[in-house]
Amino acid sequence: MLAAIQKSGTSALACTPVAISTRLIIRRNEPAAVRLRHHGVRWRTPTDGLNRAYEESRTARSPPCSLLAPGFGYCRLLPMNPWISKAVILVGTLTLLAIRAPHGRRSRSVKVAKSHKTPLETGLLVLAWVGFFVPLIWLASPVLSFAEYPLTLGPLIAGVMCFVVSLWLFYRSHADLGTNWSITLEVREQHRLITQGVYYRIRHPMYSALILYSLGQALVIPNWVAGPANLVAFAILFTLRVHAEEQMMSDTFGDEYATYAARTKRLVPGVW
Ligand code: SAH
Repeated sequence: MLAAIQKSGTSALACTPVAISTRLIIRRNEPAAVRLRHHGVRWRTPTDGLNRAYEESRTARSPPCSLLAPGFGYCRLLPMNPWISKAVILVGTLTLLAIRAPHGRRSRSVKVAKSHKTPLETGLLVLAWVGFFVPLIWLASPVLSFAEYPLTLGPLIAGVMCFVVSLWLFYRSHADLGTNWSITLEVREQHRLITQGVYYRIRHPMYSALILYSLGQALVIPNWVAGPANLVAFAILFTLRVHAEEQMMSDTFGDEYATYAARTKRLVPGVW
């Protein structure tokens, strides 16, 4: 039967059947390639390494042998190797943590003068941590493989661009905010209102950065659960926090904050 398959023209693609379904029934008048594909036969084709890598990554049994499809042309049309996404997410997450760590340490060394941490704030922080960890669960284990879809080049490139811009903005907003930063709603001793640097035109550049970063994750991660997890969590956090934060800043800085708020936008310069 294998000889018959190769004789039927599929050999022109250098195809070698590697697995044949037990339900295989050969009907006479169909081209062999279509017939056998229909019944679950897999071929060795120029993209076989890619497809195998993709299947292997779904079950996380072993790493793939190549990172990209053998020909660049295939990348636009065919699923790409999701290990590329995993590498991008790993680098992005480590960069995010590396940017925050020193600023977090420095801020914690300044005493909190007034905390506005309500039970809602605590709930939002828990949600944000869940949103942060779901992509890491996808990265490290196959439990979310049921929600996987093929990765393609366009979203991958768009996502990487979101990462680059957002990580730069995240770095700049931490640098400009200095020790006035808190993970929750707090006013520190000698808290200063920052209105310069990336705070010059928008009031919440760190939130802009984190929303853009989450959008990048949604594009880069080919998984319906892990991809948008951070975006959904952060959108909820932002929506339910922003008014309380602006109220806290207004109570603390009065007219200075009102003037600042009047000349700035929340997230996108000149837009909103
Ligand atoms: N919303 C800001 C900051 C996020 S960190 C942004 O997205 O960039 C949250 C803390 O930052 C708040 O508890 C508040 O104390 C502080 N904060 C927010 N805006 C500030 C500003 N313009 N100047 C100084 N501190 C600010």
